[in-house]
Amino acid sequence: MSVIAYDVIVIGAGTAGLTAGARLASEGLQVALVTAGEPTACLSTGCIDVCAAGVNPLDGIADLPESHPYHRIAPAAIRDALLNFQRQCAGLHLPYTGAPDQNRLVLSAIGTFKTSCLVPVTMRSSPQNEEEKIHIVTFAGLKDFYPGYILSRLRNAAFSTYDAGVSTTMGIAANFEDDTFLEAFILWLEKLNLRENKIAFPAVLGLESAAAIVDTLEQRLERPVFEIPTIPPSMPGRRLFNVLKDHFRRQGGVIYWNWPVVGVEKAGRQIEAVRLESQGRPMSLNARAFILATGSFVGGGLSARRETIIEKVFDLPVFVPGTREDWFEQDYFSRNHGIGRAGIAADAAFRPDGCPWDNIFACGAILAHVEALKNGCGHGFAIATGEAAARSCLEYLR
Ligand SMILES: Cc1cc2nc3c(=O)[nH]c(=O)nc-3n(C[C@H](O)[C@H](O)[C@H](O)COP(=O)(O)OP(=O)(O)OC[C@H]3O[C@@H](n4cnc5c(N)ncnc54)[C@H](O)[C@@H]3O)c2cc1C
Repeated sequence: MSVIAYDVIVIGAGTAGLTAGARLASEGLQVALVTAGEPTACLSTGCIDVCAAGVNPLDGIADLPESHPYHRIAPAAIRDALLNFQRQCAGLHLPYTGAPDQNRLVLSAIGTFKTSCLVPVTMRSSPQNEEEKIHIVTFAGLKDFYPGYILSRLRNAAFSTYDAGVSTTMGIAANFEDDTFLEAFILWLEKLNLRENKIAFPAVLGLESAAAIVDTLEQRLERPVFEIPTIPPSMPGRRLFNVLKDHFRRQGGVIYWNWPVVGVEKAGRQIEAVRLESQGRPMSLNARAFILATGSFVGGGLSARRETIIEKVFDLPVFVPGTREDWFEQDYFSRNHGIGRAGIAADAAFRPDGCPWDNIFACGAILAHVEALKNGCGHGFAIATGEAAARSCLEYLR
């Protein structure tokens, strides 16, 4: 078995783990990130929900229950984390529009409005009310997007269909990276002589170059253009993941992809190593500290058993919100699902409560009392706690 040593090992390639890892690597530490696979970001709209309550999400955070882990971070540090995220995305050609103290609306694929905070620049012109006149352009055979849902809610919307020669989200997005395809598409659009003030597209406008493609479309069509996030596979979610991954690597971080942690090695009050297993090749990664960012149930960090809930890597104590009757419900995605409070309770330094080891920090959706769906605080919370856990880890190592 090969053994490699790092300063820090981050477990999980979600928004929280990649944020924490990039911060630690940028401070000159040797950081490895190990992941079982893709994060929840790839299922998401790519929009950064900070806290859906109120006009100013930072005020909304102040009103969350005392148990919410957002309260372990100073409001100025939450703001800085979000501004830092915006700076790094802008530097990697995926600018995010908005400000940490301002919520905004994003039109969804079913014609409802979602409250978010920082949104990909490709959605900056998303309407803020139901009255705006929009023309939706969809693609022949695209199964992840039905303009009829939007038309049934927005009376000022119309739609047209373009045959892109392929019908999958990824296939159409890849076509948009080709200048010849884009030019033919624009010529077709120009011939439509659209009258509506804004033109909307399902979020398939490119893999890496979406912001530039939207700019080109706006210049040629002489009006605002915006993407509408689609159901998974979500291009904006995947673009977000790619940018976070890219940023982490540029800071010097190393990723072990598709290597789930299958065991840990301990000595006294320290975790010394995690064991990985992929295609029959065992490997042991040693480190001085570990960041647990394996997400909640969707990410794979938590698992519900008949009578309890377990944390799968270190078997840490899990806060379980009452008896099974209190948290069992068929629809996992219902906003008030009791299980949304389950997770790892942590102290002000993001160290897990009741943890027998001193060198573990936790961040992101695996934390207890988050209720990301109910509070509308998915990626924003992951970014803020990723930065905060990294800061605590740095202090510990120094
Ligand atoms: C369908 C859906 C849509 C969403 N839409 C939005 C949205 O539009 N805006 C928003 O702000 N939030 C949204 N959210 C919430 C948001 O995606 C999450 O809150 C956030 O991404 C959590 O990030 P994380 O880093 O904590 O965990 P995750 O993204 O869940 O990442 C966990 C990582 O840990 C890895 N992992 C798990 N177990 C192991 C193991 N044993 N060994 C190694 N690696 C492991 C996983 O492979 C994964 O890479 C959405 C969530 C869902 C489910």
